[in-house]
Amino acid sequence: MKKIFIAIDGPAGSGKSTTAKIVARKLGYLYIDTGAMYRAMTLKVLTSNTDPADETAVVNLTKVTKISLEDGGNLRVMLDGHDVTEEIRSEEVTKNVSLVSSYPAVRELMVARQREIGLRKGCVMDGRDIGTVVFPDADLKFYMVADIMERARRRQEELSEKGIELPIIRVVKELKERDFKDSTREASPLKKADDAIEIDTTRLTIDEQVEIILNYAKEAAVGEEEMQRR
Ligand code: C5P
Repeated sequence: MKKIFIAIDGPAGSGKSTTAKIVARKLGYLYIDTGAMYRAMTLKVLTSNTDPADETAVVNLTKVTKISLEDGGNLRVMLDGHDVTEEIRSEEVTKNVSLVSSYPAVRELMVARQREIGLRKGCVMDGRDIGTVVFPDADLKFYMVADIMERARRRQEELSEKGIELPIIRVVKELKERDFKDSTREASPLKKADDAIEIDTTRLTIDEQVEIILNYAKEAAVGEEEMQRR
């Protein structure tokens, strides 16, 4: 079947990453977690004692930083040759990532890398601006949403699995702050592309979310094949 490009955007905790990862595996596609790239950059800022609020310093650091994603079964995030897959999920990184990713020049550098990777057909890419800015011509675009309490519950569970116990109220606050910063920044804010299919995952299981996207993907791939045959 013809390979396509699938963009999945949405706020934190809406189920993007989990769903995107499984969809990519089932289709035999590459999975690109663009949030992981911004997180890796934020980790570099924090560990090199750069002030995240110093835009010029952060941009200069981004220019000399190597971030890559290795999708060999389990996605590994590499920062200057070191595996930082686990470290980028820390609270400190989560707290600072929206500021670092709000700088237009940082985004430009990341987007250029994402476009390079995504040129290969057969890719599921998730983030905040994939359908609007990175690949506006994506074959399929999804925008995933869910109630704030459900998103907080999922994130709390995720953290708990890593041994971090946080009260739900704190998780809600963190999510709201990140949503606000991500959707109100000037450079490519989080928003639904006009032609994106919205999926509310509040009451859906992961299997159901995967199924919905796979059905659209099969339809789109068949459509592409027919177009080529004509
Ligand atoms: O997807 P995840 O929640 O790991 O993303 C972390 C942060 O990275 C987001 O809150 C956002 O600030 C930033 N991000 C972005 N653009 C993307 C992906 C993530 O600005 N395409």
